[in-house]
Amino acid sequence: MSDWTRERLHPDYAQSLRVDEMLYDSKTDHQRLKVFENGTFGRVLTLDDVVQTTEGDNFIYHEMLTHVPILAHGAARRVLIIGGGDGGMAREVLRHDSVTHVTMVEIDAGVVEFSKEYLPMLSAGAFDDPRLELVIADGAEFIRRTAGGYDVIIVDSTDPIGPGEVLFTDTFYGHAKRALTTDGILVTQNGVPFMQGGELTNTMGAFRALFSDATCYLATIPTYAGGPMAFGWGTDGPARATPPDVLQGRFDASGIATDYYTPEVHKAAFALPGYVKRLIP
Ligand code: SAM
Repeated sequence: MSDWTRERLHPDYAQSLRVDEMLYDSKTDHQRLKVFENGTFGRVLTLDDVVQTTEGDNFIYHEMLTHVPILAHGAARRVLIIGGGDGGMAREVLRHDSVTHVTMVEIDAGVVEFSKEYLPMLSAGAFDDPRLELVIADGAEFIRRTAGGYDVIIVDSTDPIGPGEVLFTDTFYGHAKRALTTDGILVTQNGVPFMQGGELTNTMGAFRALFSDATCYLATIPTYAGGPMAFGWGTDGPARATPPDVLQGRFDASGIATDYYTPEVHKAAFALPGYVKRLIP
C-alpha cells in the first residue's frame, strides 16, 4: 500500500497525492516542510501539508505571475518577489534580460535551502544569478521599510494562514503600492475563487481603494483544486490596455520560450466568468 498525503486546506474538501518516495519531512522554524515524489506531478513541495508547488505543473503558476505583469509593463527593471522560496518565480523573472535587479524576500530560509537541494529544477540556477538579492525576512516588515522603486511586485505567498496571513492585509497592500513606481504593477496569488472567494473579495476591496486599475486574472493549475486560481492585479498605469500586437512584439523580442504563457492567453486571462466578477466589490 502506498502512502497518500491529506491536504485539508478547505473545510469541506480534501485532496490526496500518492507519495511514491518521501524525500524530506521536517519542521523548519516556521512550518512543516515535505518534499516527495509523485508519478504525475514529479517532485512536490508541501508546507503544513498544503501543496505549494510541483515539478509538473509549476510552469503555469510561475509563468502567469511573471510574464503577464513584466510584458504588460514593457520596461520592468526592478522586480520584488515576496515569498517565492522555492525559486520558481525568480527563475521566470530572471529570464527577462530587461530586468536588472530582483529582490526576493522569503520568511523561511528552510524553504530556500531544501528547495535548492531537493527541487533544483524549480530555481534552475536562479539563486546563482548576480541580479538576485535574497533577503530572509518577513515580507510585510520588509515592505514597510523599503525605499521602493519597484516596477513589478509579485506576491508569491502561502495561503492566508500562518506566516502568509499578513500578506493579505490592507496595510500590506498599502505599503506595496507605496513601493511601486508610478506605473508599477502589483500581482498577488489570491487562491481559487470557487473555494476561497472571501480571499479574493478582501484583496479586490483593498486594490479598488488603492489603484485606478484593480482586477484579477485567472489560470487553472491542476494541484490548486477547485477550478481556476485568481491573481490580483493592481496598477495606476496603462499596462492592462497594452494591445495584443505590442505584447506579441515584446514577447518575441524577449526570446523567452514558455509552456503556458502566450500573448493570447495573457489577454484571455482577464476575461472573468460571472461568479468571479460577483466576488469583486
Ligand atoms: N505557489 C504556492 C501556493 O499558492 O500554494 C505558494 C508558493 S511558496 C514558495 C510561498 C512562500 O511564501 C513560502 O516559501 C513561505 O515560506 C513564504 N511566506 C509565507 N509568509 C511569508 C511572509 N510573511 N513573508 C515572506 N515570505 C512568506
